[in-house]
Amino acid sequence: AVRVRFAPSPTGFLHLGGLRTALYNYIFAKKHGGSFILRLEDTDQTRLVPGAADNIEDMLEWAGIPPDESPRRGGPAGPYLQSQRLALYAQATEALLKSGAAYPCFCSPQRLELLKREALRNRQTPRYDNRCRSLSEAQVAQKLAKDPKPPIRFHLEGEAPAFQDLVYGWNRHEVASVEGDPVILKSDGFPTYHLACVVDDHHMGISHVLRGSEWLVSTSKHLLLYRALGWQPPRFAHLPLLLNRDGSKLSKRQGDIFLEHFAAAGFLPDALLDIITSCGSGFAENQMGRTLPELITQFDLTRVTCHSALLDLEKLPEFNRGLSRLEMPVAGRSLGFPGRLHLRRLVSDKTQRRQLVGKLQALVEEAFGSQLQDRNVLDAAYVERIILLRQGHICHLQDLVSPVHSYLWTRPAVSRAQLGAVSEKVDIIAKRVLGLLEGPGMSLTQDMLNGELKKLSEGLEGTKHSNVMKLLRVALSGQLQGPPVAEMMLSLGPKEVRERIQKVLS
Ligand code: GLU
Repeated sequence: AVRVRFAPSPTGFLHLGGLRTALYNYIFAKKHGGSFILRLEDTDQTRLVPGAADNIEDMLEWAGIPPDESPRRGGPAGPYLQSQRLALYAQATEALLKSGAAYPCFCSPQRLELLKREALRNRQTPRYDNRCRSLSEAQVAQKLAKDPKPPIRFHLEGEAPAFQDLVYGWNRHEVASVEGDPVILKSDGFPTYHLACVVDDHHMGISHVLRGSEWLVSTSKHLLLYRALGWQPPRFAHLPLLLNRDGSKLSKRQGDIFLEHFAAAGFLPDALLDIITSCGSGFAENQMGRTLPELITQFDLTRVTCHSALLDLEKLPEFNRGLSRLEMPVAGRSLGFPGRLHLRRLVSDKTQRRQLVGKLQALVEEAFGSQLQDRNVLDAAYVERIILLRQGHICHLQDLVSPVHSYLWTRPAVSRAQLGAVSEKVDIIAKRVLGLLEGPGMSLTQDMLNGELKKLSEGLEGTKHSNVMKLLRVALSGQLQGPPVAEMMLSLGPKEVRERIQKVLS
């Protein structure tokens, strides 16, 4: 059975790079009817960031790719936090010590530091000189008496086995002759990454390891550990890096690559999944607008190339909104944009739409809470109408509480001078519009309402239609820019429009 894992260290919140690794694991698992496991690698207790563990799991849920097994959900291969699996690492270390594949190291921190400095002085990469490899049994026993919990090192020996990476092809890295023996268990009983990763992948029955390409070289070391422990290694697929469009690193220091940021800004998870998969490889065709089920059916691991994926975050709003026929060059090719993206898709689904209404209500409350008038703009029916009318024009829900849209939730303060600057015939125009509202005006469609307004302008000698519209726009919203006037009127509804126009008169 396919079992894959996403194994982040809770040393930071989930960002786009992590999401991509998680997503590839998720879709690979679902494509093969397998399981997607979240394992938190919290062995470096000094680097833990409070809240990171929760954030990672929360954000996977938010993104719609929840793990089947995880610290929170539990599962048959748990616990899923490495700090709770220390006995397993101790057991594996014991076996390695017994077979001679590992040994205790009694070198003092000072000695290690000197080795390091010397190497740097000679412009060499620092590495442990494997001194404690050659201690006799008697020496070890004697030293253990004084230092009963020394760190344990793995004896790197022999040629690393070659392996066929599912993305990078055949690989073999000469670790034994290049690196010093690595510590696998620290004196505090915590393992280091290499041992913990091998032990857990084995005990959790992981079939495929899909992880960032920065671990490609370490894989040889892992394979030596598998061999020494007598275990069958999983298959490996290393994923190329996700970079900014200019080739620079997606830095964790850029605050805006964290998922939380995108969630808070009102982006839809599907748009994020879409953008991070459409900028890389793994699909027969590069296209945008895939839903998660489509990603699952269309993903093909053998199509992942070794090239870095270049992410253009400036395109994200477009992914969110779903423009049709947007031309976007990817890897030198121009791709059509299938205009069927996520916000519209959500709106067309009743349950999802209800959720959007709830979210927008909360956003409005948060943005305008104290300024909301008696007129109940938080009514679900009103909020839903706004979403339906505006869905094709906005990038995300947050847009609906931006200044251009504030007229929907609060009444603008409009001065007589502001109106007078648009037209001298404020009163007469206002009266005619009120007259129009008496009739069937407001039950019309946007097109028909436009027709009525046009006729109204024609009936006003010497007044340009554009000025009538401008005046209405200012009267209704206090602004010179915004949605089409007829749409504004339909959004606000006849009663509110009448009240705002009436105010113009007084
Ligand atoms: N904890 C490692 C990381 O955060 C996991 C690497 C792996 O998947 O083996 O990158």
